[in-house]
Amino acid sequence: MTSARSMINGDGRLKLAVQRSGRLTDHTLAMLHQVGLNFESYGQRLFSQTRNFPLSILYARDDDIPDYVVLESVDLGIVGRNLVHEQQVNVVELFALGFGYCQLVVAVPNDSPYQVPEDLLNARIATSYPESTRIFFSELGGTPEIVKISGSVEVAPALGVADAIVELTATGSSLQLNDLRPIHTILESEAVLIANRAALEDPVKRVSIDRLVMRLRAVDDAAKFKYIMMNAPEDRLPAIRAVLPGLKAPTVVPLADPGYVAIHTAIREDEFWEKIEELRAAGATEILVSALDKLLL
Ligand code: ATP
Ligand code: ZN
Repeated sequence: MTSARSMINGDGRLKLAVQRSGRLTDHTLAMLHQVGLNFESYGQRLFSQTRNFPLSILYARDDDIPDYVVLESVDLGIVGRNLVHEQQVNVVELFALGFGYCQLVVAVPNDSPYQVPEDLLNARIATSYPESTRIFFSELGGTPEIVKISGSVEVAPALGVADAIVELTATGSSLQLNDLRPIHTILESEAVLIANRAALEDPVKRVSIDRLVMRLRAVDDAAKFKYIMMNAPEDRLPAIRAVLPGLKAPTVVPLADPGYVAIHTAIREDEFWEKIEELRAAGATEILVSALDKLLL
């Protein structure tokens, strides 16, 4: 029988640690499948082998992933940037993955007098992020008393355990529910792909890492653009082109109807509706829009 150790180590594959079960897991696995990696991820597996890419995936507690990467047990990891910051590990952030968005904030009870972090320089602060908290306040010249709590940090002020908290929030609803208001954002976080320097300096691993990052970027770029096709009278073309910065020049194809053309291009998701309105005003009709699966710029 092949041991887990020999499967994970020593076969020249890249090793990637991902969260086994938590907020990042579904998105992480979906993204890896979307870049064409073929592996089984059902159940409580310890690791998977990717069949069509030299990569093994290790499933772990997210808190352990930065250390696994730094200690070179794995080459790569996918974790929240908040954990990399908290653990102050020397890893390289290769790519921000665009999910798992959250903020590390300082929050205080609604009815407290505190307005800015400077009001808390000597306060007592409850948090699961003691190191991030210490660094933040020491940069302000403060040394608050930090109480480390591993869960339900939001109830600490109501229990009289702390004057304020430092906690992750995505929507702010948990803060609101506990009569807390955020007064400062310490860190903007999202899921990131991290690597250790040894892996990046290994020429063989480097090739696979670059391939993986290139694919992740293609998926990420595709999500930022829409593919758009429209018809227009040929004499409207200059007005339509003026609206379309697109990727480069749009593709213009003559239609069977004399004097009409079809125009194809990609436009940015974030300016999509604005552009559609301008295109209609410029004379475009039959505007057809579709999502892109991958985009290689
Ligand atoms: P594990 O069992 O792996 O240790 P966990 O309970 O510590 O999991 P999760 O709650 O699954 O961790 O959060 C994982 C990551 O998801 C966080 O480190 C953070 O980067 C991100 N995240 C996104 N939104 C939120 C949120 N609202 N609250 C907490 N974390 C969030
Ligand atoms: Zn955790």
